[in-house]
Amino acid sequence: MSSIDRIDPAKPLKNQKALVTGANSGIGEGCAIALGAAGAAVVVNYRSNPEEAERVVGLIKDAGGEAIAIRADVSDEGEVQAMFSKAIATFGTVDILVNNAGLQQDAPFQEMTLKQWNTVIGVNLTGQFLCAREAVREFLRRGVVPEVSRAAGKIICMSSVHEVIPWGGHVNYAASKGGIMQLMKSMAQELAPQKIRVNSIGPGAIKTPINRAAWETPEALASLLTLIPDGRVGEPEDIARAAVWLASDASDYVTGQTLFVDGGMTLYPGFATGG
Ligand code: NAD
Repeated sequence: MSSIDRIDPAKPLKNQKALVTGANSGIGEGCAIALGAAGAAVVVNYRSNPEEAERVVGLIKDAGGEAIAIRADVSDEGEVQAMFSKAIATFGTVDILVNNAGLQQDAPFQEMTLKQWNTVIGVNLTGQFLCAREAVREFLRRGVVPEVSRAAGKIICMSSVHEVIPWGGHVNYAASKGGIMQLMKSMAQELAPQKIRVNSIGPGAIKTPINRAAWETPEALASLLTLIPDGRVGEPEDIARAAVWLASDASDYVTGQTLFVDGGMTLYPGFATGG
């Protein structure tokens, strides 16, 4: 039986355990719900607003899934290690990490403070390193369990179109996403022999609290849409469907790749009419 034949199309992540960082809002919430619906037991990580994390846990359970909320700041080594210990104590292991938590602290370049720089790099890039390292330690300890997945583990890094599109006024954010690209690819190269797959999703403009100012008013929306050939702003579900595929054995031969889910934002739309 091929790996594709073995996948239950309704529950492609059956018997798997997933941890999604920053899962009490936006894209992380969408991914947690979709992974739960696909059969995974889900750790809903959050840093603040526990009631929002419990709301997401409730949505997953209402749909017949299994979930718990665990608080941790992903930029804090001790808190990340405690989160993985609790996740493994609760569910037995972790098979899937969605490295999603992220933030922006924007400023004109000459006014950007070291604190703004360090906060964004600390959460967006160092946070992904810390969580990925704990996940890989667990994947290596457990190894491949063929009835569960062909991989020992899967890591999905939430990157951005800004891993390739420069972004003035947001240099800390763009640098963090460019860093994620090489973190992801280097991990994928190093860990493929151990059957650990590492990929990124590069969202375009997705309707979440992080970029509310960009879609909230008709004027802002019209300006944003000039950057999106598809003609609509994305929804967290657009990203969540890609995350389920990258977490499942359907993508077993895919590693070290960024899947841009962006309605064509990376296609240089300004050149559509000749540039
Ligand atoms: P969001 O603000 O709705 O969600 C961000 C999540 O990260 C929140 O749950 C927040 O609490 C959490 N978080 C922040 N700092 C944390 C920390 N130190 N520890 C743990 N959790 C922390 O925004 P979103 O749009 O859902 O963003 C999710 C990811 O998607 C981010 O990495 C972001 O860069 C990326 N992204 C978003 C877009 C978009 O258009 N929305 C586009 C490209 C990439």
